[in-house]
Amino acid sequence: MATGSSGRCEFEFQPFPVLLKYDCPHIEQRPYTLPASARKVNGHQPPCHECHQTEENWVCLQQDCNLIGCSRYRLKHMLDHHSATNHSICLSLSDHSIYCYVCEEYIDHSNFRQLHSQLIGEYGDQTFAA
Ligand SMILES: [Zn+2]
Ligand SMILES: [Zn+2]
Ligand SMILES: [Zn+2]
Repeated sequence: MATGSSGRCEFEFQPFPVLLKYDCPHIEQRPYTLPASARKVNGHQPPCHECHQTEENWVCLQQDCNLIGCSRYRLKHMLDHHSATNHSICLSLSDHSIYCYVCEEYIDHSNFRQLHSQLIGEYGDQTFAA
């Protein structure tokens, strides 16, 4: 049944059916790393800078910013942060997706490789642990 050894499988591990944009022009030309502000606090996500909730938060990946804000499904403080600053790229601490507010798309890039592995080290693999 095998159709060859070079099958395309890069999307198999995406937990949600979104198309990733690989050519977001807002990605900086540097290897991204997990900001210190994104580390767990007492086993939880670090709190939103504004409302201090510890679920569904995002971290701004703008260099030297790294602010923590809650998602648009909470009190959308990360969206407010983007509107106020134009910082465009942020990372979900819940599902590890990376989003560009300017492109309004989920994005990925080889510059995020180190960030992804640091995230798994900090938060574990999020795929349905029993
Ligand atoms: Zn973009
Ligand atoms: Zn908030
Ligand atoms: Zn920011």
